Amino acid sequence: MGKDLRNLKVGLKPETESKAILLLNWYRKNKRQLPWRDQDNAYLTLVSEIMLQQTRVEAVKPIFSRFVKRFSGFESLAMAQESEVLAYWQGLGYYRRAKNLHQCAKKIVNMAKIPRTKDQWIQLPGIGDYTASAIASLAFHEPVFVLDGNVIRIATRIFAIKGDPTKRQIRQVIQNKVSEELFYPNFSADSNQAMMELGALICLPKNPLCGSCPLESVCVAKFSQRIAEFPEVKLRSQKIEISLNLYLFRDVDNRPVLGKPWRGYQKDYLFPVWIESAPTPKYNYAGHFRHAITNYSITAHVYFEDVSVIKQYQELLGPKSTLLLKALHKAVIYSAP
Ligand code: SF4
Repeated sequence: MGKDLRNLKVGLKPETESKAILLLNWYRKNKRQLPWRDQDNAYLTLVSEIMLQQTRVEAVKPIFSRFVKRFSGFESLAMAQESEVLAYWQGLGYYRRAKNLHQCAKKIVNMAKIPRTKDQWIQLPGIGDYTASAIASLAFHEPVFVLDGNVIRIATRIFAIKGDPTKRQIRQVIQNKVSEELFYPNFSADSNQAMMELGALICLPKNPLCGSCPLESVCVAKFSQRIAEFPEVKLRSQKIEISLNLYLFRDVDNRPVLGKPWRGYQKDYLFPVWIESAPTPKYNYAGHFRHAITNYSITAHVYFEDVSVIKQYQELLGPKSTLLLKALHKAVIYSAP
């Protein structure tokens, strides 16, 4: 349990301190005891964050405990057979998450040090923007904030932010408000969890429990009795975060390989090949980009054989998918003299 922060003045404007500190103090008194919480452990944080994507806390709890008992750290997970990892994932679904987690552990045990920052985490298989921020903040206290559906809901209500939160401009307004008034960078881990916990337990989508909310006295939506108006549109269900390795390479006849369509989506377009396994050293890594298809939020990592293969892909006939165009763009930038 952390100490009460009412008398601390740590680097925020006075009017900002009150909201962030009210939230922190509420969290420290009311947070749920969860097996992965307050551990300052990158492995436990990573496993829990991947399991919690698209799965409820109560469903994750028993499977998480069983999983980390069998695979106690990056090394034991990396050494396991994939079939066993999948067996211990049973009950959670979305098995690609387990495969990516397994690949991630394999990469980490071959690194000199466990990644610490958001920028380092996002390079790993299966780690998107949200998960990278969460791990960097919860396990390493990097002062980055996490924006999930819960945080968006409480921010739009507290500040009465109108407009569709899925639109870039509105999202930017939300980010600014969260960063300036709700997030407390000196206590990054607790501050992020406080916002998410308030959204999960008190500021519910329907019938929020305002009487138990630490921010009731400063919430514009509550004060003006307009809670139902925020967020303005129903938030789509949180996107499934996945990470893909995209390869630009040739087949045995020296022709660029054309990828399979993304689950039948845009069948007539040329795609890069996407592969789940870890890349081999013979490929150049051109960097990553973000991409969204239907309800998937993708972090795509681009690998290519050599410079000439990029030209071959550019000269391919037929409509190119956005995914292929973005991958080519990354490779071109990377290989520019
Ligand atoms: S007062 Fe009510 S609407 Fe406002 S943040 Fe708290 S729970 Fe949500």
